[in-house]
Amino acid sequence: MRIIKSPDVFQKEMRRLKTTGKTLGFVPTMGALHEGHLSLVRQARHENHLVAASIFVNPLQFGPKEDFKKYPRVLARDKRLLKDARADYLFLPSPSAMYSSDSRIKSLGNDGTVVEPAPELVQTLCARYRPGHFSGVTTVVAKLLNIVQPDKVYFGAKDYQQAAILKRMIRDLNFECEFRLAPTVREKDGLAMSSRNIYLTPEERLRAAAISKALFGVREKFCSGERNLTQLKREALKLLGAAVDRVQYFEIVDPDNLSILKVPQAKMVAAAACFVGKTRLIDNVIIRP
Ligand code: AMP
Repeated sequence: MRIIKSPDVFQKEMRRLKTTGKTLGFVPTMGALHEGHLSLVRQARHENHLVAASIFVNPLQFGPKEDFKKYPRVLARDKRLLKDARADYLFLPSPSAMYSSDSRIKSLGNDGTVVEPAPELVQTLCARYRPGHFSGVTTVVAKLLNIVQPDKVYFGAKDYQQAAILKRMIRDLNFECEFRLAPTVREKDGLAMSSRNIYLTPEERLRAAAISKALFGVREKFCSGERNLTQLKREALKLLGAAVDRVQYFEIVDPDNLSILKVPQAKMVAAAACFVGKTRLIDNVIIRP
């Protein structure tokens, strides 16, 4: 696996690759890798001649009170896991190489060009509670796609709103790459794998399983005939209320425009964000009858 830190060097190497006719799959990450990330690498391995991953804890997508500083950084382990998953390239830029002014890191002040998500996709769910987060995501992914120039780019359904926003960005801005979405990988008790799960104490870890239980419960009840979305939401909130420390939201939304649904439709997404202790966890399930 070749490790490249410089955006210019990476971009030149990728341009050279293009002339060889080989296809490239790309998996952007923030590191602290787990099976969720590795499933994306394996899918990319399966569908392309070559695979690139990136590890970049993007300062632009963290709010001033969020966990940018303490976000887990375990580079030696990540490199080993990527090598084992047979990635060919690892792009490992520093914040100063990605953003010419480091004022963003200190104050999140914006003095460079940014890419804004489609406005209708940031009216609900996480966007309501993390102002500026998704423009940090669209900006960094746009930059990464221009540097890496992959044929296919892989994202996880675990971060559903992020995936919906990036899918739209790729379409709206004519990025020449195919958007690929991979299913959420879960722990045995249903908890969605996340780099942030390591923040949980053993006691919190047990309670965190309620999030996926509530989501799957809603799906099961819907599939057994319950059609009242308000009632489904009420039951999920009751279950969550008994287990987590704070429910930020629990919503049933349209899978494409993410608007909150009052009446059922053919395909829906139930999504939740909860605090367990000080850790914010998100998860979602797709519901179709
Ligand atoms: P992150 O490192 O958290 O930015 O995640 C990098 C990519 O991995 C994103 O596309 C995530 O949606 C995806 N991902 C994270 N956790 C999971 C999971 N449990 N299952 C599938 N994909 C995931």
